Amino acid sequence: MGRWCMGSVIAMATLAPANPWTLVYEGYDPAAEGLREALCTLGNGRFATRGATPDGLCRTPGTYRAGCYDRLASRVAGRTVVNEDLVNLPDWLPLTFATPGSDWFHPDGAELLEYRQELDLRRGVLLRELRRRDDAGRITRVRQRRLVSMADPALAALETTFTAENWSGPLRVRAALDGTVTNHGVARYRDLRGDHLTEHATGDEDGLTWLTATTRSSRITAALAARMDAPVPGRAEREPGRIGTEHVLHAEEGVPVTVTKIVALVTSRDPAVHDPLSAALRWAGQAPPFEELLAAHEAAWERLWERARLEVGGPELAQLVHLHVFHLLQTLSPHTFDLDVGVPARGLHGEAYRGHVFWDELFVLPWLNLRFPDISLGLLRYRWRRLPEARAAARAAGYDGAMFPWQSGSDGREETQTFHLNPDSGRWLPDVSHLQRHVGLAIAYNVWQHHLVTGSMRSWCADLLTDIARFFASLAVLDPASGRYEIRGVMGPDEYHTARPGAAAPGLDNNAYTNVMTVWLLARALELGLARPGESARWADITRRMRVDFHDGVISQFTGYADLAELDWGRYRGVRRLDRALEADGDDVNRYKASKQADTLMLCYLLTTDELLDILRRLGYPADPELIPRTISYYLDRTSHGSTLSSVVHAWVLAHADRARSWQFFAEAALSDIKDVQGGTTAEGIHLGAMGGTLDMLQRCYLGLEPRPDGLRLDPCLPERLGSLSLPIEFRGRRLLVEADHERTRVDGITLPRGAAATIPFPPLIIRRPGRVRGR
Ligand code: BGC
Repeated sequence: MGRWCMGSVIAMATLAPANPWTLVYEGYDPAAEGLREALCTLGNGRFATRGATPDGLCRTPGTYRAGCYDRLASRVAGRTVVNEDLVNLPDWLPLTFATPGSDWFHPDGAELLEYRQELDLRRGVLLRELRRRDDAGRITRVRQRRLVSMADPALAALETTFTAENWSGPLRVRAALDGTVTNHGVARYRDLRGDHLTEHATGDEDGLTWLTATTRSSRITAALAARMDAPVPGRAEREPGRIGTEHVLHAEEGVPVTVTKIVALVTSRDPAVHDPLSAALRWAGQAPPFEELLAAHEAAWERLWERARLEVGGPELAQLVHLHVFHLLQTLSPHTFDLDVGVPARGLHGEAYRGHVFWDELFVLPWLNLRFPDISLGLLRYRWRRLPEARAAARAAGYDGAMFPWQSGSDGREETQTFHLNPDSGRWLPDVSHLQRHVGLAIAYNVWQHHLVTGSMRSWCADLLTDIARFFASLAVLDPASGRYEIRGVMGPDEYHTARPGAAAPGLDNNAYTNVMTVWLLARALELGLARPGESARWADITRRMRVDFHDGVISQFTGYADLAELDWGRYRGVRRLDRALEADGDDVNRYKASKQADTLMLCYLLTTDELLDILRRLGYPADPELIPRTISYYLDRTSHGSTLSSVVHAWVLAHADRARSWQFFAEAALSDIKDVQGGTTAEGIHLGAMGGTLDMLQRCYLGLEPRPDGLRLDPCLPERLGSLSLPIEFRGRRLLVEADHERTRVDGITLPRGAAATIPFPPLIIRRPGRVRGR
């Protein structure tokens, strides 16, 4: 049987922040640099830069501009595969120094007397302090502050202050812009090409150095321009694909000397730009000095935090909440709104999953809806702009409506790889995960939630709902023998199950999550009057006759699940990626009742108990209230949590029935990145879905906040370990302050005693036909 394999809860974690607004690392540990780099990433929703050292040898620099993708073909295992990557853009960070007679400083191998890194989550500033002794005994103190401006999304800056503690003399400083970087941040992709940048050009003029490079196939040009605010001008140095300046400063014992690198990054996709190079040169030239840049940046963060505030009791949890809000807003900010980009599963923090957009927005938009509904709208618009592509994909596959891709990038075509490497066995294997059609259901669910929270539905949002509903309706086929509609040949969220054992073709029939959510969607679409004449009768029929399988008194994940073997869980104790482990052992996870992550239980995550039972009853299935706890416990015992999303969902579904266990899962989800619980994956990028999901847990789940057509329902169920919560939300244009502890919940002048629930009434949403659907 499965087991919950991570014992830590937040109170037991080794994190003990003195300040819940900072993330502090003491000492230099080259082996841990990847994780630090990802967690210390700075960004502004337009671009982000990993927290790589400016001067180390063990570094994986990464600067990613939201939506800047490029496609390249590679030869692996005798095949040509084409992949679209979020491009690693030229590195703006490099800066190092040399004391007289010594080599350029790198922390690797240098004698470091002190080394400390501190990420200020409130202000968005990365501080690094070190003291280094050279071979001649000269001690130099270095203090660096770094920002990626939240006020001006084209700008970033690195301020470095040197203090010669026991010496005086010339101090050489070298700064560069480096366009020779490639996408090589993920070891298992290293057989694939990552040289996306070409046509490098460099130059220096008017005290600025610049570098441009263009992506190979998407032809996006990125320009960097750097201004060095230094006491003495520098001499330009050029190498192929790189340009820099060398400054010879005079260091006076005990007197700090500061050099600031101010950089503009502009791409040909940015708004309000004629050409990237002239814009980068103008903006770097006109940028204010560091202190002014910092003040504007801090003010922008302060405004964001006012809306994002989420106060919880206890510094450890507070630190995690701040970390998650911080990284979420660095990936998706008000600057993202009109960039035409989606929710990258791993943030702008690394190259895992190639920067692709999956269904993870399902875990992110519900939190944003109640805080930054405009950002959500921009993200939904990313999907709407790719509706023609999704319609074409549906048509090509013989369906109606819009079939969204499992993995999406620049233009909305299917980006899922067709082969993937199992690092455990070293084998390249076929990948059929594109069969996760349920991604469309996630988009539709988000459209609906945004509608409930904001009270408005744009006509283009109604278009999205309509076309997704139409697609799922056409996916359903009536089986004349049983009189039930079936959805065949798909995959659910549990990626372990790709086919029935021994089946000739991939795909499963009647994935319960897909089938039930299709019924939910068609019911919403019918209420909104979105069906064409002639369609509504069939849609309504599907909502009454969709097939759902059951076995052992629980909902079956798919048809035939009951026939699978039980896994010897003892043998694979603690293994999260059973698919890889079993394949490496010559076995196949498809044979077993074992899930990577919540699949059937996603139904209990997205739907209330009443909604789920109503759907099942409408379909004519006996749905006693005990069905749900039985189903939860059944799958809980058979899940390896090979995705960080799994603990979010399990925390949610246990919130009422087993608060202590729910809190354990919540703690695991909350620690996913800071403790890198999936074993090394965070270095390749944060898990944005888990970050958003944990915030949403605190906001919607533990407060029991449920946006409904007639208002906002509150039914708090704070776990014991969660002392209190205080947060502002925005519901249908009204700002509400919610404050809860174990005794009472206060909102909008209402006080709910412990154990009570209430609905804050709002004028009911008016549901009209498409084009005129506007809400109240
Ligand atoms: C999970 C998916 C998720 C993807 C990106 C996978 O490991 O199984 O559900 O969308 O990661 O986060």
